[in-house]
Amino acid sequence: MPDGMVDAHILGVTNAMAAGWSVLERGGSALDAVEEAVVIMEDDETFDAGRGSFLNRDGRVQLDALIMDGGTLRAGGVGCVEHLRNPVRAARKILSESPHVYFVGEGAETFAAQHGIPLCRNEDLIIPREMERLREYQSAQSDSKGDGNDLFAPVADDPTISHDTVGAVALDRNGNIAAATSTGGTLNKAPGRLGDSSLIGCGCYADNLSAAASTTGWGEPIMKLVLAKWTADRIAAGNLPEWSAHEAMNYLKQRVNGHGGIIVLSPDGHFGIAHNTPRMAWAYKTVKKEEAGVVREG
Ligand code: ASP
Repeated sequence: MPDGMVDAHILGVTNAMAAGWSVLERGGSALDAVEEAVVIMEDDETFDAGRGSFLNRDGRVQLDALIMDGGTLRAGGVGCVEHLRNPVRAARKILSESPHVYFVGEGAETFAAQHGIPLCRNEDLIIPREMERLREYQSAQSDSKGDGNDLFAPVADDPTISHDTVGAVALDRNGNIAAATSTGGTLNKAPGRLGDSSLIGCGCYADNLSAAASTTGWGEPIMKLVLAKWTADRIAAGNLPEWSAHEAMNYLKQRVNGHGGIIVLSPDGHFGIAHNTPRMAWAYKTVKKEEAGVVREG
């Protein structure tokens, strides 16, 4: 995350946290809270989710999202959608109103439209910043300056690209936990490429018997490790979320040389925030305390 984008990120995650908290404060469910928090970040062009997302190789926005309820293990996911401003809303409808868990592409959009979610044009999701970013990336690649590899790997010079999949985890007063993750994926991805974010257990997971987790980072390594579930399993085995989040980052790096971040919350209210990238925007609120930042020290 470049220095110039730090304030916008902190504001964005703080706004999302406030939206989630206001649901919980009214006695709402963790599921509603994570949905509302993620909608705020999808609507915020700072992040790689909803409008303002990275463009794929063809210059189009393709979005993935997942939401999961730890109390019932119900989940809803969408992949490769191009005409939804808030993919997490469609994911929520799938969770609540479909016997299925996952819809992709046109089928996902048709389901959303049939359930009252308006479709938009793909151009409505594209902003000039991202058109310029794709142009620069593709021209660097054709000059063979770009390596097309892990954009999340720390670079020596000041990075100019931030990678901003969004996610939220929450615990409500009934003791239920939930998680949601939404993304535009990775810059210059091949059309039809699906990342980790919307895959159960990879970019998002929630089970009252273990934990709620949301991850960000280069999706291919994360999905190979089913990292959100891996972390939740550590917590089910009796480890603290904070330790488990850091272990997840160590595992990601050591096992597949991956880079990313994770937020994780257990049903007893302990949480962990960790990243092995230089920065990751985060915010949390409990009845006692509220904090936000872009670096989480171990
Ligand atoms: N994990 C996402 C993906 O690979 C990208 C991100 O987290 O920013 O699609």
